[in-house]
Amino acid sequence: MTTRLYYNDPELYEFKTIVQEVVAPSAEQLRPGVVLEATAFYPTSGGQVHDTGWLTTDTNERLRVAEVSETESGKIVHYLEASVRPLTAGTAVRGSIDRERRRDHMQQHSGQHVLSAVFVDLYQMPTVSFHMGDEYCSIDLETPSLKSEQVVGAEKRANEILFENRPVRIRFISRAEAEKMGLRKLPPAERDELRLIEIADIDVSACGGTHVAATGQIGSILLRKTERVKQGTRVEFVCGDRAVRMARRDYTALSEAAALFSAQLWDVPAQIRKSFDESKLLRRQKDDALEQLVEAMALDALNKQPGTNGRKVIVQSFADRDTSFAKLFAQKATRAGVPVIALVASTVDPPGVIFAQTPGGSADMGSLLKQILATVGGRGGGTRDFAQGGVPAGCDVAQLLRQAAGTIGA
Ligand SMILES: [Zn+2]
Repeated sequence: MTTRLYYNDPELYEFKTIVQEVVAPSAEQLRPGVVLEATAFYPTSGGQVHDTGWLTTDTNERLRVAEVSETESGKIVHYLEASVRPLTAGTAVRGSIDRERRRDHMQQHSGQHVLSAVFVDLYQMPTVSFHMGDEYCSIDLETPSLKSEQVVGAEKRANEILFENRPVRIRFISRAEAEKMGLRKLPPAERDELRLIEIADIDVSACGGTHVAATGQIGSILLRKTERVKQGTRVEFVCGDRAVRMARRDYTALSEAAALFSAQLWDVPAQIRKSFDESKLLRRQKDDALEQLVEAMALDALNKQPGTNGRKVIVQSFADRDTSFAKLFAQKATRAGVPVIALVASTVDPPGVIFAQTPGGSADMGSLLKQILATVGGRGGGTRDFAQGGVPAGCDVAQLLRQAAGTIGA
């Protein structure tokens, strides 16, 4: 079994060891892997993601450790980016851990322990799972809801614990002792020895992860989005350098928004609300004006059109108004109090035609539209009084309308 050097020394970044076993690439894992006698590389487990780094041979061949995972039987496999000459069992290697990545993982994972402990301490909300992503981390709390004051309260308390720079200790105890201590979330009963991570006066957890030596190294904890999930409430958070980077990104975005409004950062929400209200009002004014315009145009068209056989037929194609305008025009024309058939179209992309008659008229707009559209491969339909359809681009719409007018004998 590989000796896990990170168990006792999470800040060991360079180490020497011997290759114990070589794992050939498989369908699931295309990279070759090696098992070492001892390793400081952390394999993905317990919510924490794996380390990356290098293995260097005596002949100075550097092999990139791209992924590290733990098999079901507890073997730690280091997957290497394809090498020219594969390593063989018995080869002496020097391992180097990617320090920045490890430090980030330690900040996030230790931050999680503090945060989980604070949620229990303040609000009796236990953590049921922990996830470490590339961008942010999250814990799922066993609670159906979380108030924003509780989020702020937990963030404040967690950061106080960081400022107090409390020691974080690693201890090994037997399972029996752990059970006596009443530890929550004990790992499955495979090993008799348990590794405990103890943050002074706030938390003791059984955990195999790499942790900081004192809470001050976590730097800061910033809580982000919360959302309801199946098993409770998810809280996104970032610690240390990630917190600074995220805050910087937020600040940049907010500054850009503030510059657009020539406002202070904190005035941005009020400015956005004001701008929403203004555009809503403008939209309403535009709709009213449009309706007045279309009504006047419909009445004008009606007045210019002499009636035949007790009804008026209006044929009108718009080149600069869209289909919804054409539709409104047809509605206004057919509800002006005299029997009217309106054959209207818009050639603005996507072109459309509307056939409407004063409700209860003797023609059938739906079947007329179908008949006319069939000649050009258009699609559409409707009722006896109102039908609407689309025509292929480039179609001679004016000709279509004349054809429709001819069909009804106008
Ligand atoms: Zn942990």
